Amino acid sequence: MRLTALPVLAALLFTALSSAADPSPAVKHLPAIDKSIDAEIADLLALYKHLHANPELSLQEEKSAARMADELKKLGFEVTPKIGGHGVVGVFKNGAGPTVWYRADMDALPVTEQTGLPYASKVRAKDRSGNDCGVMHACGHDVHMTCFVGVARTLVKLKDSWAGTLVLVAQPAEEIGVGAKAMIDDGLFKKFPKPDVCVALHANSELPVGQIYYTEGLAMANVDTVDLTVKGKGGHGAAPHTTVDPIVLSAKIIVDLQTIVSREVEPTDPAVVTVGSIHGGTKHNIIPNEVKLQLTVRSTKDSVRDHVLKAIDRIAKGTAEAHRAPPPEMKVNLQEFTPALLNDAKLTKRLMGLFGEVLGAENVKPRAPVMGGEDFSRFASTGAPVCMYFLGTIDPERYAESKKPTGKPLPSTHNDGYAPLPEPSLKVGVRTMTLAVLDLMGKK
Ligand SMILES: [Zn+2]
Ligand SMILES: [Zn+2]
Repeated sequence: MRLTALPVLAALLFTALSSAADPSPAVKHLPAIDKSIDAEIADLLALYKHLHANPELSLQEEKSAARMADELKKLGFEVTPKIGGHGVVGVFKNGAGPTVWYRADMDALPVTEQTGLPYASKVRAKDRSGNDCGVMHACGHDVHMTCFVGVARTLVKLKDSWAGTLVLVAQPAEEIGVGAKAMIDDGLFKKFPKPDVCVALHANSELPVGQIYYTEGLAMANVDTVDLTVKGKGGHGAAPHTTVDPIVLSAKIIVDLQTIVSREVEPTDPAVVTVGSIHGGTKHNIIPNEVKLQLTVRSTKDSVRDHVLKAIDRIAKGTAEAHRAPPPEMKVNLQEFTPALLNDAKLTKRLMGLFGEVLGAENVKPRAPVMGGEDFSRFASTGAPVCMYFLGTIDPERYAESKKPTGKPLPSTHNDGYAPLPEPSLKVGVRTMTLAVLDLMGKK
């Protein structure tokens, strides 16, 4: 018994060891992928610069959407525009096999670009409040759209190497948290083949080009948007005793809100309460009737989310009462809620192992969850595993310089100085995402 079992065990062990060392099947397509990227890169670079110079705010992505639809049509995708506003869906049926969804977002931010790049945006537009503002792709969604086109072109060229249904989703309004929901409410999950897997990438402003960040499981936070109107009783600035001053009251509320995370939430549960905007009053000597506050609230557990939102209401009302003021009005904008992003552990391990084979394992780095939000998380409600990874976009020289003791810190995404190094970022983005899809849909 023992004697016969040993060779079997040895054979099993050998198989396990050799398969651990074997490259993933998709890696054999790398030369063809790289050949396609080399042929496309000049055109992709021109597309990137065009998109970068012509950014569009959330809900205004008309031209970007039209360009994405055109690109997919030219490649033979069945294209449906105007899903949930400016959303575009392209379907490419390529025989029997899994259905893989790849999502990219298209919107830019109300930021006036200061990069000084020759293709910097000079676009101005009206934001949602009607204010004139500069517009910039400060979150790298231009990188996302260009990679999206590059991956589509490469996968169509390599269509004999994979089978199944590829669904490409160009999503609007990610930055205000409503785009994915609007597409879903408009039938995204009903009108198109159901996903077996959903993937996405996001530009990253902390890593040099050629490196990737990933997080298994909880990767990004719940995001809530809260409007708080603090009420008082206006009057003359020289007669404060005849008024209830909502400016002093707002100051007290803002300071007290800081105790929610520091005193009420368990220290091991991450949470953030930020008052990002305060507006009240018109003139030096007038005490206004009200002050408006805008807050962002982040959490990673539903129980913490619930507690923090209730605590804001409680503190605002309690402080107002103590100051003889009417109760403040609190509005949690559920339309703009973004659920936490949970990357499927098995899928993430599989794809990051694959990326490690081609980029070097040392360049594919795990990262702790961050308190940012991403409405790609909503794609998980199909029940399909999802994975979003983060693509390094920084010039390696600039990165090395920033790490010196005297170095200048790198601008983060959403900063007016964020400047991805386009060509290599696009190459790594197209390379990794094409490999991921081929790994998921490749012919055996
Ligand atoms: Zn962003
Ligand atoms: Zn983004």
